[in-house]
Amino acid sequence: MGKKWVYFFANGQAEGNAQMKDILGGKGANLAEMTNAGVPVPPGFTISTEVCKFYYDNNRTYPEDLKEQVEAAMKKLEEVTGKGFGDPKKPLLVSVRSGAAISMPGMMDTILNLGLNDETVKGLVEMTNNERFAYDSYRRFLQMFGDTALGIPHADFENALAEMKAQKGVKLDTELDAEDLKKLVETYKEIYKKHGKEFPQDVYKQLWAAIEAVIWSWMSDRAIKYREIHGIKEGQLLGTAVNIVAMVFGNMGDDSGTGVCFTRDPNTGEKVYYGEFLPNAQGEDVVAGIRTPYPLEKMKEMIPQAYDELIAIMDRLEAYFKDMQDIEFTVEKGKLYILQTRSAKRTSQAAIRIAVDMVHEGLIDKKTAVLRVQPSDIERVLHPKFDEKERKNAKVIAKGLPASPGAATGKVYFDAHKAEEAAKAGEKVLLVRPETSPEDVGGMNAAEGILTARGGMTSHAAVVARGLGKPAVVGAESIYVNEEEGYLKVGDVVVKEGEWLSIDGTTGEVFLGKITTVKPQGLEGPVAELLSWADEFRKLGVRANADVPRDAKVAREFGAEGIGLCRTEHMFFEKDRIPKVRRMIVARTKEEREAALAELLPLQKEDFKGLFREMKGYPVTIRLIDPPLHEFLPQEEEQMAEVAQQIGITVEELKKVVEQLHELNPMLGHRGVRLLVTYPEIAVMQTKAIILAAIELKKEEGIEVVPEIMIPLVGHINELKYVKQIIIETADALIKEHGVELKYLVGTMIEVPRAAVTADQIAQEADFFSFGTNDLTQMTFGFSRDDVGKFLPEYLEKGILEHDPFKHIDTQGVGQLVKSATEKGKEVKSTLKCGVCGEHGGDPKSIEFFATTKLDYVSASPYRIPVARLAAAQASIKYRS
Ligand code: ADP
Ligand code: MG
Ligand code: MG
Repeated sequence: MGKKWVYFFANGQAEGNAQMKDILGGKGANLAEMTNAGVPVPPGFTISTEVCKFYYDNNRTYPEDLKEQVEAAMKKLEEVTGKGFGDPKKPLLVSVRSGAAISMPGMMDTILNLGLNDETVKGLVEMTNNERFAYDSYRRFLQMFGDTALGIPHADFENALAEMKAQKGVKLDTELDAEDLKKLVETYKEIYKKHGKEFPQDVYKQLWAAIEAVIWSWMSDRAIKYREIHGIKEGQLLGTAVNIVAMVFGNMGDDSGTGVCFTRDPNTGEKVYYGEFLPNAQGEDVVAGIRTPYPLEKMKEMIPQAYDELIAIMDRLEAYFKDMQDIEFTVEKGKLYILQTRSAKRTSQAAIRIAVDMVHEGLIDKKTAVLRVQPSDIERVLHPKFDEKERKNAKVIAKGLPASPGAATGKVYFDAHKAEEAAKAGEKVLLVRPETSPEDVGGMNAAEGILTARGGMTSHAAVVARGLGKPAVVGAESIYVNEEEGYLKVGDVVVKEGEWLSIDGTTGEVFLGKITTVKPQGLEGPVAELLSWADEFRKLGVRANADVPRDAKVAREFGAEGIGLCRTEHMFFEKDRIPKVRRMIVARTKEEREAALAELLPLQKEDFKGLFREMKGYPVTIRLIDPPLHEFLPQEEEQMAEVAQQIGITVEELKKVVEQLHELNPMLGHRGVRLLVTYPEIAVMQTKAIILAAIELKKEEGIEVVPEIMIPLVGHINELKYVKQIIIETADALIKEHGVELKYLVGTMIEVPRAAVTADQIAQEADFFSFGTNDLTQMTFGFSRDDVGKFLPEYLEKGILEHDPFKHIDTQGVGQLVKSATEKGKEVKSTLKCGVCGEHGGDPKSIEFFATTKLDYVSASPYRIPVARLAAAQASIKYRS
């Protein structure tokens, strides 16, 4: 015997089962499984996906023995139904249905009632004693077959139908009688002729044409596009299966009907039966929306017995497949048939609730529940969303990058200070900027959301917004922002200061006007429970990037186990500090600088105390100053005078300092460890602040902290050695002076490729590594992360890069640096703690990669902690168990 291409199912016995989705497709595999389980499924057979593959591999031909196998299956089908295919007395009719391993809209529409022709239609009249029904089925078949199998425009048939109704002066299809429908059949045949096609009276010709149409549809533009969008690679699926199923009729009167039902509510996840039912109808009527279906409960009144049976089957199928099912059914004269079952699509809220409920019901275990929810589901339920109805009616005026998820609506302001003031006055504000800078942080924090015309996924606006948990759309390049005159323009749409605008940071869409937002439920109920299970499986730690106590608190509430990155310079931008910082920068002598630093010291110390207190003994990594100093000075002429006066120097002197600090390439300039080498007194002050904070907390409040002092941008071991020496001298002196015992660690960021390559050397001097993957990506690719918008979109479009490497870690390049540096480092020092603190630390796809390395933790912005916990658990289950 040759290869098996055809799998039969009938009367409680099937040749396939649910495990055979690859070759039977999802629909076929589940039809077989249901048959085996004794669920009433009409008999039929599935032509395997391997036939589709064979067809395209072999110049669009079928395997030699396919015809034989299909005909044998048809014979069997005739036997079990007691009807004959093409039999003018007792015709067997079938549906021909597509179905790949992954459910895929874009594939061919189902053809119903195949097997009808001028002779068999008469047989159907006799069998059913219902002429109207028979001719209605025939004209439907002519229409579906013509459209789907032969490519005759659907509209031609629809027009003919509409004309007939107009002639008769009726509105509904159901008002046409048998005679009308007979005439319509003739008209439809004319339409075939008009398009140079012949309607095949031979039922086997019909069957093969329909099979071929299904297989063709696998390569339709729609289907190819769908696979592309959903990242289904060529060769990942064999093709589509073809399901041929004996027809059952829902359009045989009021004890018949068709419907779709769900075993739970797919919107909320609530455990209730949910669905729609349409009496006296065939499947396509529900989809076509010709008549409005009833809620499922209505069926209970109309066909109570079939309803009860359906409920029992819903319970059985859910228990059997251990997941919420989406079920298609038909009732023929009171007898129930199930035509399809599959795992139901659901909202994020429902996904979480169902996973948790099913564990409580004993249906699935915790591991399955953790794997079943997507990280994006967690993200979605934790951010504000738009009211669905209002959103549908709103006008999209632009699209940018979805930089920070969530929905936001507010009155637009183009100036951060104005935004802050308006927010203080109680207004809902949306900050719109060409791009943002550190000076805008106050306004960003006060705003509901942030929109920028320029910048990428790791631009200042994007990073800060994610840190703040504010929805943001960045790089909406079609928007022109005029800050001076206070308006934005897209096409002919102009939005002035104070007018309403809405953004969706999950999709990148920008909407005109106000859309109501709905608050998230927070970390309670099912989400909290699911994440607590995730923690049981998680082997990768999750820390937070948090700079101030408020963020640290949020991070703790979301389950962070420490702070992986505290950026100290953010503290310098606060109103009461910036003049002191500036005085420090413009200092002419070391003494002047030290004096200014001395004023900053108590302020920073308090910052750190607040942070340590909030973290209650969890580890806190504090990074010493990182950005180039010019970022703290005004760049615009107008602000010079004011600032000069504030810090007590002349405008000329200030200008000179600004000029001196000017760099052609500040990203690769005088920043990070380079600043600490040239201004060691800054390292001294920051170390003092950190150590003193820890000492005082220990003495005053009994809180034990092991501060982790981190040096940014190290590329050479000697840089680290030099600064570390200063830190140790300073710290040890303080500890001695206060007579306490205090442990502290000194470590380094790994963000310069040279540091990653020489990780074994660096590990000798470091207690920990923290991979700053934003800079590491920037420097490894040589892409300026603030300017990638100019070429990256084209790179993605042209397939040069598969994805934005600032969003998902580049596993082959940057990721390998992380992996090998971690290994090298740990080989030298087994206690070396290694984490990732770049934006990738909160990205599920990147976390999945990190879980395959020897990293100890990832660190993400507070609002991404829940997502990171789930993603890390899933990765641990997949790769580390
Ligand atoms: P889809 O993949 O679009 O869901 P299906 O192949 O499930 O397409 O067919 C759509 C609908 O057509 C079914 O829900 C059902 O109502 C109807 N249908 C399909 N096969 C049959 C059949 N053998 N008898 C009666 N109705 C059928
Ligand atoms: Mg279906
Ligand atoms: Mg960096």
